[in-house]
Amino acid sequence: MPRVRIFMTTDFKGMPSTGTSAREIPSGGPGVRPPLTILLASPRGFCAGVDRAIQIVERALEKFGPPVYVRHEIVHNRYVVESLEAKGAIFVEELDEVPADVPVVFSAHGVPKSVPAEAERRNLLYVDATCPLVSKVHREAERHHRNGKQVILIGHAGHPEVIGTMGQLPEGAVVLVETVADAERVEVADPANVAFATQTTLSVDDTADIVAALQRRFPEIDAPRREDICYATTNRQQAVKEIAPRCDAMLVIGAPNSSNSMRLVEVAERHGCTKARLVQRAADIDWGWLDGVARLGITAGARAPELLVDEVIEACRERFDVAVEEVAIARENVTFKLPRAVA
Ligand code: SF4
Repeated sequence: MPRVRIFMTTDFKGMPSTGTSAREIPSGGPGVRPPLTILLASPRGFCAGVDRAIQIVERALEKFGPPVYVRHEIVHNRYVVESLEAKGAIFVEELDEVPADVPVVFSAHGVPKSVPAEAERRNLLYVDATCPLVSKVHREAERHHRNGKQVILIGHAGHPEVIGTMGQLPEGAVVLVETVADAERVEVADPANVAFATQTTLSVDDTADIVAALQRRFPEIDAPRREDICYATTNRQQAVKEIAPRCDAMLVIGAPNSSNSMRLVEVAERHGCTKARLVQRAADIDWGWLDGVARLGITAGARAPELLVDEVIEACRERFDVAVEEVAIARENVTFKLPRAVA
């Protein structure tokens, strides 16, 4: 935001002050807010898988009563997690933290096969909130394995979705590649018998480069029947590509552990908006960072509720004369059915 420094050399009675004090006010004089055009990317925010996962926890709370345990953050967003905690959800990292007589929900990221197996062994009532598009990748990996193919998974080591997908097959059956360099040196038992799958929330562009490297090395590699990177990830990245060249800065609303939100920051930087930042909510904004910004892009990762977008726009309105322009590149109407246990 352009600012001018006003040096006050007189006190409020018109008497010379004993020292020089300074305060900063927006350029244009006191009370005049500088103009700011907000380019609002669309689609943004919640995807169908996140919406379903939250509904599953809420329905489980209604049906079984609190507490309902949730293994891992249901979605990577602090605001969502805290809202559900306030209603009686208890978040834990592992099943052994869940008492014997309470229901447990598995997060949208998916879980290794060992997790429902352990829940059954302990006779726990569990509801699986794995996004159906993640489950689709699980089934694909299993199909390749049944057909005798070695599976190469493109994804980020340690991400819960990757742990879940690798855990669909016996140890060692899936090999993980994270980068083009990994793809160039990955070793497989039989180069004529490989397939690949991907994490659903990757960068579309980075993944295309990794896939190209794999296809160069293994011309017969089996590809997914349909793209594994999901519609929501693809659309949110495309919307950012559309507005990034027109923005002086971009705010991505999301959590630092949310893969799809972090990718949106990278996409903005690579497509013409080098000044891009992740914020979890309005309170995180460093307003000095917006000095000189006339056009601000705003988007939200697939785990961030629209309420947080509204909050950021309101905070901008308190400091700027805001005009909002929404730039839509697609209309989404995807919904997923709830599991029978909570339908
Ligand atoms: Fe499902 Fe895609 Fe949302 Fe992940 S980002 S929960 S795969 S719809």
